[in-house]
Amino acid sequence: MDNMDIADDLYLLIKDLAEEENIHSVKYIKLVIGKALEVNKKGLFKKLQKDIFPGTICKNTKLDIVEESVKLKCRKCSKIMTPDQKFFVYCNYCGGHDFDIIQGRKIYIDKIEGKTKQ
Ligand SMILES: [Zn+2]
Repeated sequence: MDNMDIADDLYLLIKDLAEEENIHSVKYIKLVIGKALEVNKKGLFKKLQKDIFPGTICKNTKLDIVEESVKLKCRKCSKIMTPDQKFFVYCNYCGGHDFDIIQGRKIYIDKIEGKTKQ
């Protein structure tokens, strides 16, 4: 995935959330990235802090980026697994190799804090 596109999309999302909460100056953002997306965490952090946030309501924010582990559900036996390797091939329980990714492929704002309008 392209960090540039993600950063732009995230900023729009942050702006919407801030508006909903009446925040005019964002102080803290917790961003969660699913490991399955293989986003470059450092690159994204830099992109947001250096190119996107300056001059916006996010200019003074602290930014935390947290990675969320991948969880797979076997389509054959319905067991849920957290693979420790990037390419997970067989189910530990039944040997199946069809999985649904049930966690770890989303990117979302977990928390946003800031100064609200009176
Ligand atoms: Zn299985």
